[in-house]
Amino acid sequence: MALELRPNCEFCDRDLPLASTLARICSYECTFCADCVETQIHNVCPNCGGGFAPRPIRPAREWRPGLSLAKRPASLERVHLSYDLENIAAHAARIKDIPPEER
Ligand SMILES: [Zn+2]
Ligand SMILES: [Zn+2]
Repeated sequence: MALELRPNCEFCDRDLPLASTLARICSYECTFCADCVETQIHNVCPNCGGGFAPRPIRPAREWRPGLSLAKRPASLERVHLSYDLENIAAHAARIKDIPPEER
């Protein structure tokens, strides 16, 4: 199984192209932009409560047989949060002061 590489930020819906250095993911691949992680959700995933890391960039070029963006394409399915803003803020407030490794 490879990372899904989702196409958008689940909070603000901005595009996160495959080569973007702004994409952040949690351990479940919930995907957000760096701005939203910092200023909106405070490094707390609205879905699972985990922290974020930069999304690795899949090489476009086939350096090894079968492994490239063409052979393992990214997801085209846009994902959106199912919680309202108030709920997300309360969730972040409850968790943000606990370091991810202690959640
Ligand atoms: Zn965003
Ligand atoms: Zn998550």
